[in-house]
Amino acid sequence: MVKIMDRSHQFLVIGTGALGLATAQALLQQGAAVTVLERGFVGREASWAGGGILSPLCPWDYSDEVSRLALRGMAMFGDLAESLHLATGIDPEYQRGGMLVLPPFDVRAALAWCAARGMRVEQRGDALFLPDVAQVRNPRLLQALRAQVVQLGGRIVEQCEVKQVVAQAGRVKHLATTLGNFSADSYIVTAGAWSKVLLGEHALHADIKPVRGQMLLFKFDAPPLPHVVLRNDLYLIPRRDGHLLVGSTREDVGFDTSTTDEARAMLLQRATALLPALQNRNVIKHWAGLRPASPGNIPTIGRHPHLQNLYLNSGHFRYGVTMSPASAEMLVNEIDGAPQMLDVTPYRWT
Ligand SMILES: Cc1cc2nc3c(=O)[nH]c(=O)nc-3n(C[C@H](O)[C@H](O)[C@H](O)COP(=O)(O)OP(=O)(O)OC[C@H]3O[C@@H](n4cnc5c(N)ncnc54)[C@H](O)[C@@H]3O)c2cc1C
Repeated sequence: MVKIMDRSHQFLVIGTGALGLATAQALLQQGAAVTVLERGFVGREASWAGGGILSPLCPWDYSDEVSRLALRGMAMFGDLAESLHLATGIDPEYQRGGMLVLPPFDVRAALAWCAARGMRVEQRGDALFLPDVAQVRNPRLLQALRAQVVQLGGRIVEQCEVKQVVAQAGRVKHLATTLGNFSADSYIVTAGAWSKVLLGEHALHADIKPVRGQMLLFKFDAPPLPHVVLRNDLYLIPRRDGHLLVGSTREDVGFDTSTTDEARAMLLQRATALLPALQNRNVIKHWAGLRPASPGNIPTIGRHPHLQNLYLNSGHFRYGVTMSPASAEMLVNEIDGAPQMLDVTPYRWT
């Protein structure tokens, strides 16, 4: 156990996605000294590319391990977004507009899941409406988190790629980076889809790999929908200012972030079937991001089994934004030896 309540304990966090920034923020709030290293620029990978729906898509399709962490994140997000807005002046545009889930899905399983978790649900014809599902606007959330990390005294070093985690005698000794060696008391890997590659031999059984998702963006004068709409894997996310996001694909293509004409045509065709107003609209942006995929969508959150000052907070696959505050809370509680809100066993690094 490490006491992090004083600034003499120094942390190096690797990666500035939602997980890296949320972890840095939580450590700084406990009084630690934190430096975050980023290969490129802050928050430009999966956490930027995502849709910002704060819920698993069909939550009843997932294990308890996914549900528990996602529900804890969902419960924390409203206050988090408000406090970020107040502290930084940057509004992450948290809004609880709900999500309409269209068939096909298992109605009985869905209703049972909602009843067991106390999640409100309304039956609308053969669809289900989940009024408590919220969304955030990812780039704004990341800007706000970045601003708060800096306000709290954190240091962010961009264009600094970690090349190797160098260990000696059961501890990490330093990080070899493109800007030279960095050392600290403790090291936290939050490098998303790159976490396993970065860790090399130290990854052990942490099984994290990239899965590409492509998104399309449209612009209307006013939101064309009052809430998120989901059918199978296809979702439409209306933003306050009339932007509409359409996602997404799930592609096993390694570390390739290019977009494809096939995905664009498929997303457009399926989205237009749900929202005919898209028929003559131009796609104003098309992008791809790499989700940090893990078996069962269960992230690894915790200490390395052999290297006592190395931690991992990664592998959140499809729900890293949703889970980020809960996941950061869990890791910081573990580091600090504080009581946990959830059973940490399923997320351990074994
Ligand atoms: C299309 C799409 C839609 C999504 N929709 C949602 C959604 O609606 N809701 C939801 O909750 N989740 C969603 N997700 C999933 C979510 O975006 C991810 O789970 C989450 O962003 C992962 O965050 P991360 O911080 O682990 O990774 P990232 O955001 O990828 O951050 C990792 C960071 O580490 C840096 N890095 C990597 N290697 C190194 C190195 N060697 N040295 C230094 N820095 C390094 C990278 O440059 C990057 O900045 C979506 C993802 C995609 C792609």
